[in-house]
Amino acid sequence: MSTEPQTLLEAVRHFADPDVTHNTMVELRWPSGVHCPTCGRTDVRFIATRRMWECKEKHPKKQFSSKVGTIFEDSPLSLDKWFVAIWQIANCKNGVSSYELARAIGVTQKSAWFMLHRIRLAMQTGSFIKSGGDAEADETFIGGLAKNMHQAKRAKVITGTGGADKAMVMGILRRGGEGQPSRVKAGMVQDRSGETLKGAIKSAVEPGQKVYTDALPAYRGLSAEYVHEVIDHAVEYVRDHIHTNGIENFWSLLKRTIKGTYVSVEPFHLDAYVTEQTFRFNERKKNDGGRFRDVLSAVAGKRITYKELTRNVSEANA
Ligand SMILES: [Zn+2]
Repeated sequence: MSTEPQTLLEAVRHFADPDVTHNTMVELRWPSGVHCPTCGRTDVRFIATRRMWECKEKHPKKQFSSKVGTIFEDSPLSLDKWFVAIWQIANCKNGVSSYELARAIGVTQKSAWFMLHRIRLAMQTGSFIKSGGDAEADETFIGGLAKNMHQAKRAKVITGTGGADKAMVMGILRRGGEGQPSRVKAGMVQDRSGETLKGAIKSAVEPGQKVYTDALPAYRGLSAEYVHEVIDHAVEYVRDHIHTNGIENFWSLLKRTIKGTYVSVEPFHLDAYVTEQTFRFNERKKNDGGRFRDVLSAVAGKRITYKELTRNVSEANA
């Protein structure tokens, strides 16, 4: 694709042509050829005038567009709007709020909020593979999330110490090496017990590797399976290779995004924002077009309804 866009402006112009948008979608969604999302048949008939296909099998959704079975299904919005939304969230360092997106593409804030959450599903590309390599592990509190929560939910989410009114996220950063950037795996945890934190490490790091943590007692016992190196932040922050600066840098990016762009985040959705930041961090060496393609090629097989998204919250407000 020699005319592949490199900037937001180029992307907007490029995808203003419905045929270009259609072809891009088909190429990335079905790299090995179009098949029916319902039954998998590949001998489907293309109806060019409608940009749809017809399956020869007898089943519901016999006629399908490229949106069927993706995060775009049931959305009345045209693909060019979706593509601009993906471009923005995949590439804006600090994320993009539903208010900004709504203004940029001319939809309501509520629609934009829903779009962004659907796109975050496609950002769960699972690109973190458990493997060797030195790792840094750390946990952090994301603040001020609890003010709108119901009492029962507060009690469930807020545990641990020092974090009243906050939710906790655990992260593991695998350090990079020759041409390999470091990668992060992160997600919400319910408490900071040894079982929880060490369990997260074991799910992400092969035994025998070096694991760097701070002096939190919950990390004690890691040396049974790992070369556990501890940096006591009461004493120092770096000793040779022993530090957790990589994962702490990720926390500051995450917090900047949440505070600066999303202002407040319901705990129910915190993992989605962590996913978004993790995606941009892990794919940071790619260019804007590369990150856009990564997300667009992962839109199939992931759907969520507005009801599911909002089942625990009073409003969509970030
Ligand atoms: Zn079929």
